[in-house]
Amino acid sequence: MRLAGIQLGSYSVYDEGVERCLDHIAQAGVNTLLPYAVGGGRMGLPSAVLAPDHGVMPGETPVTDVWVRFDPALFRGLALPCPQPGPGQYQGEDVLETLAEPARRRGMRLHPRILAHYPKDPAFSQVRAHAADGSPLPAKCWRHPELQAWWAAVVESLFRGYDLHGFHFGDERAGPLSEILVWGRRGGCFCEHCQAEGRRRGIDLERARTGFLALEAFAKSMRSQTGPASDGVGLSLLRLFMKHPEVLSWDRMWIEGRFALERRIAETARAIRPEAEIGWHIWQYATTFDPLAKAAQDYGSMTAYSSYLKPVVYHDIAGPRLRGMLTEGFLNQGLYRDLGPDLGLEFHRCLLGWEPVPAWRNWSGPASARPTLRGKWAAASGKSAPPAPPAGSMPASGSTSPSATPTSPAIPKHFRKPSAPPWEPEPMASSCAGNTTKCASPT
Ligand SMILES: [Zn+2]
Repeated sequence: MRLAGIQLGSYSVYDEGVERCLDHIAQAGVNTLLPYAVGGGRMGLPSAVLAPDHGVMPGETPVTDVWVRFDPALFRGLALPCPQPGPGQYQGEDVLETLAEPARRRGMRLHPRILAHYPKDPAFSQVRAHAADGSPLPAKCWRHPELQAWWAAVVESLFRGYDLHGFHFGDERAGPLSEILVWGRRGGCFCEHCQAEGRRRGIDLERARTGFLALEAFAKSMRSQTGPASDGVGLSLLRLFMKHPEVLSWDRMWIEGRFALERRIAETARAIRPEAEIGWHIWQYATTFDPLAKAAQDYGSMTAYSSYLKPVVYHDIAGPRLRGMLTEGFLNQGLYRDLGPDLGLEFHRCLLGWEPVPAWRNWSGPASARPTLRGKWAAASGKSAPPAPPAGSMPASGSTSPSATPTSPAIPKHFRKPSAPPWEPEPMASSCAGNTTKCASPT
């Protein structure tokens, strides 16, 4: 049967009433329900914004975080505890029990979902990831045997306790490269289990460690007002990777740790129910916005153990998320800081292989009136646009007129060629060459 699923906050089943909720969902031809078994709290947005068409407004009282019953016997002997419902509205409700009969009557199947959500228990500090200098990180390490055993117990408890057709898991985390270069945080993992895996793969541990520390220093410098080097961000980063290729091997090892955990989850479920459909939630930054996370997210490596993938393509939040990631992660002292807003957005679009934006690509009006990212920022924030750059700096991409009013911000000093302003637009990469307007780039 073709899967037509919907993920839903389990509180909706109780806010709206199970029959009314499923009748509403059935109108969309849904045959599979993906309710949160753990996590999935309220959105924190006004009810009128979230669901004005449901007839029953969602509540606003904080809800519990565990919506099913786990078998404590399956967690006996493990270092990590059995999940228990936390305080909040609907504490003690069992959403899979509530849905079972009403879903069966409508021909709907159950795939409970969990987005890596952990009880607030100090025991979980044992399975934290570690940075290159050995300091603990907030995130868990997928390779830790105790964490893997805990997930296996969670899945076994679900499939032994309920009549399920499948399970849906996701962990919304970027890899170490993205953590360090885009999100401005520390990245790893260098715990004893990851070190052992690195040795098994023949990766030089000390060189990997040195490379990660150099990468963190690079990111810190990039976000400062002075760094990282007179050669610019792109070339300096390339040089770092050439000097420390172990960084890339370690980053790949990180995502393969998640693949290994997913494989164990799938095998655990299918040992109990061989026909179980096991699918994965792929978070939106790895499907859409973040090129480093997207490059690491290798769908081909997941096919052997997956029934389906669910890449997130939320349309309503996509614009604000893209804008936030571009401005904070890439443009403002990030990897694109040498490019400026307009060229940075164009480069991002080309890098991700997106279709041209017609209003920007085929602009036939006066260059001074051409839409720009700076203008969109100003419109969205209600602030006035940043001041125009000084004459002689690079014109907005798409503008070929030397007399056009430049609208891009000033190009960093080390990218300027005072002897030959203004810069002529040049193809940036082969993926840009077929477009109607070339990507502007200083030569
Ligand atoms: Zn680790």
